[in-house]
Amino acid sequence: MKRIDTYSSDGSLEYLDWTRGLTMCAICLEERPIEPFHVIHVGRGARKDKPDPRHRTAIPADRICHSMYHFSPKQFWKNHPKLDLWKEVFMYNLLYEQTRVIPPKDMRRP
Ligand SMILES: [Zn+2]
Repeated sequence: MKRIDTYSSDGSLEYLDWTRGLTMCAICLEERPIEPFHVIHVGRGARKDKPDPRHRTAIPADRICHSMYHFSPKQFWKNHPKLDLWKEVFMYNLLYEQTRVIPPKDMRRP
């Protein structure tokens, strides 16, 4: 966890840290160790510890779903035909702004 005084005023790093504290994958809804999944990529080699508004497009995803999205996109979308990544981004941002708590299971996609 970073010291709060290293954050910039855009709040993007605070949001990113919040997603790291979540425990459920936004894609498959399994309880697994998660990592931030950027819907707008910050790019390979880009600094993940630098404030960037694109961090606000991150949702929690486990390693399996995250890897499949990047390496087997066809299979990924076949497995999740109804997934709307922007809807997930919106929901997580809303929850972050309103509560900054980890969303309960019954607020998730069925
Ligand atoms: Zn998953």
